[in-house]
Amino acid sequence: MPTDGSFDAVVVGAGPNGLAAAITIAAAGRRVLVLEAAAEVGGAARSAELTLPGFIHDVGSAVHPLGLASPFFRGLPLERHGLHWVHPRVPLAHPLDDGSAVVLHRSLERTAVELGRDGAAYRWLLEPLVHAWEAVLDTFLGPLRLPRHPWIMARFGSRALAPAYGAARLLFRGHRARALIGGLAAHAIQPLERPATLAFALMLATLGHAVGWPSPRGGARAIPEALRAHLLDLGGEIRTAAPVRSLAEIPTTGPVLFDLAPRGVLAIAGDRFPDRYRRALERYRHGPGVYKLDLALDAPIPWTAAACREAGTVHVGGTLDEVAAAERAVWRGEHPARPFVLVAQPTLADPTRAPEGKHVAWAYCHVPNGSERDMRAAIEGQIERFAPGFRDTIRAAHTMHAQQIERFDPNFVGGDIATGVQDLGQLFTRPVARRDPYGTPDGRLFICSAATPPGGGVHGMAGYFAARSALRAMDRAGPRRPGTW
Ligand SMILES: Cc1cc2nc3c(=O)[nH]c(=O)nc-3n(C[C@H](O)[C@H](O)[C@H](O)COP(=O)(O)OP(=O)(O)OC[C@H]3O[C@@H](n4cnc5c(N)ncnc54)[C@H](O)[C@@H]3O)c2cc1C
Repeated sequence: MPTDGSFDAVVVGAGPNGLAAAITIAAAGRRVLVLEAAAEVGGAARSAELTLPGFIHDVGSAVHPLGLASPFFRGLPLERHGLHWVHPRVPLAHPLDDGSAVVLHRSLERTAVELGRDGAAYRWLLEPLVHAWEAVLDTFLGPLRLPRHPWIMARFGSRALAPAYGAARLLFRGHRARALIGGLAAHAIQPLERPATLAFALMLATLGHAVGWPSPRGGARAIPEALRAHLLDLGGEIRTAAPVRSLAEIPTTGPVLFDLAPRGVLAIAGDRFPDRYRRALERYRHGPGVYKLDLALDAPIPWTAAACREAGTVHVGGTLDEVAAAERAVWRGEHPARPFVLVAQPTLADPTRAPEGKHVAWAYCHVPNGSERDMRAAIEGQIERFAPGFRDTIRAAHTMHAQQIERFDPNFVGGDIATGVQDLGQLFTRPVARRDPYGTPDGRLFICSAATPPGGGVHGMAGYFAARSALRAMDRAGPRRPGTW
């Protein structure tokens, strides 16, 4: 590919953030090209017939509260391009060994009532955040900056900085509310005793009540497909099956935005950075990986608890103590015998995903980074524990251990689906602590992936902020004068 400078900017990688970055640049009237290594766009938001014909599985992301709530996505005409959100009757259920389940309903009130004596504390914790959810999101789906909503920041921050384990035990007397918080906080992919793990629980619960936990009709791929169509409408260009290995292959003299993990950025442009920045990228920390299991089922999962049979997402792992023990073990480099398992059941609300009467299930558990261990039996054992007879419904399975997750998408180093640990030291300042985390010391190179704020998830916000940073640089340099870089 010639370096002919015919594009004002180039984005490397067509994940949700890469597409968001390209849309932002194209919407500003610039000529933008996206180069994607895979045969299709989407990054981890892809769907495929992984098991049998007619069974549409989500290869990566499946449940999208952040996608629906994303301030960037909400400003785009994605419905016109085929994105339709499907809501399950119940966003989330968390089964327990007594045959019941704790439920996060769309209604905060109903959720609180069902938590009995812990309902008041749950209301105290969530109600202010749910009422101001847009401000909460605005504050936390972005880089570290002066708070535009200081009251919300103070209110959320004072609760969110707590470790989930201690906070759940302090706030709630019963094991049901504690388990609910434990399962939500486990999305942090860290021991629940670590600071700010409660933030993940609060953010996800807030979104569950405020907007729901939906999936796109037809599968996660509908999100990047809609982004792709919108980008083409704006005049952007996309080349798939176009892996980038060096800067020389990139046809622009303008900005290059990498929708890549730091390792991918270093491989392409490491020699362009001063030692200090390069070493900081090399020190970027990746967390545990995941083991993924996709199933084609002859029938819905026969959960004992009725609520689980209506839930889009089921958190499988038992009590707060069990979930916390499993997450601690993974962090120590061990494979828990009883892992915490996230299960999504998209066909309950979206029958287009499987032949009539059939179902798909999506599940993963956390494992040590880079693991090649087969966790299928452990995952199935956990589901069977709360849904006896489940194994008899399995018609076909597809599995990926953590190394295979990385092979599917190199941004997930060692299977780390958050593209980097999301703790206090690395959430808002990723990948390197600097005033503009999207820019690099080379004024022409930017990073726009989930390795920049606000981190993992299909929301496009990192791409949007990185593109704004690149556009500012283009304006400063004199927008249409190639060679000024
Ligand atoms: C198993 C799994 C489950 C998940 N579940 C959820 C969920 O339920 N909800 C949710 O919101 N999020 C979920 N996530 C996380 C979410 O998918 C990611 O945070 C999100 O996709 C990050 O988007 P991105 O654009 O930063 O990067 P990616 O989606 O990783 O896209 C990066 C793109 O860059 C391409 N690329 C890499 N190297 C090159 C190169 N050299 N040249 C050209 N192209 C290159 C890759 O092929 C890829 O297409 C999940 C992820 C995984 C893997």
